[in-house]
Amino acid sequence: MSGLPSKVAVVGAGTMGNGIVQTFAANGVPTVMVDVQQDALDRGMAAIAKSLGRFVKKEKITADDAAAIEGRITPATDLAHVAGCDLVVEAVTENLAIKEKIFAAADEHLGADAILASNTSSISITVLASKTQRSDRVIGMHFMNPVPLMKLVEVIRGEDTSDATTSRVMG
Ligand code: NAD
Repeated sequence: MSGLPSKVAVVGAGTMGNGIVQTFAANGVPTVMVDVQQDALDRGMAAIAKSLGRFVKKEKITADDAAAIEGRITPATDLAHVAGCDLVVEAVTENLAIKEKIFAAADEHLGADAILASNTSSISITVLASKTQRSDRVIGMHFMNPVPLMKLVEVIRGEDTSDATTSRVMG
């Protein structure tokens, strides 16, 4: 990644996940939104459409822009769809066992250079990284709610996070 990633996946389509998806897609990045539940994906897409509708109403973007943003989003129930992404942001329920499983599985689908990030509020990045074979390419990206309006993202390094990973995420 220099500047924006070329393709992103966000795992978890809830409050934070759909906001993160919207933000990447609004910045021109093709984005996969993964959730275990089709209902959650449908609710996530509806929340994004509603949020974009507010931006259109306020004349921040046009209706065509909103349609293009939605067109960049691919909902998926299978984690295998993270393949080919250069950044994955995990934003599932705050539960260590669930996140550990996702880190281990996503690691296997991703290319060597890809970065795995977590939006966790309290779980150790070092612990999540230990479930992967890429602990130098695991990092915390703590977005704020509501994501499309909040410009601040806290970046949290784990013990093994490399300088290169940190600068790619900050860049
Ligand atoms: P949420 O409950 O709104 O959404 C969680 C989503 O994860 C649900 O749609 C659920 O179906 C999905 N999920 C659960 N297990 C999954 C799996 N195995 N694979 C794919 N999807 C799965 O939660 P949220 O409020 O969006 O929080 C998500 C993360 O963001 C948490 O780690 C939380 O600590 C963090 N966070 C939340 C806030 C906030 O204000 N809500 C702010 C900063 C960080």
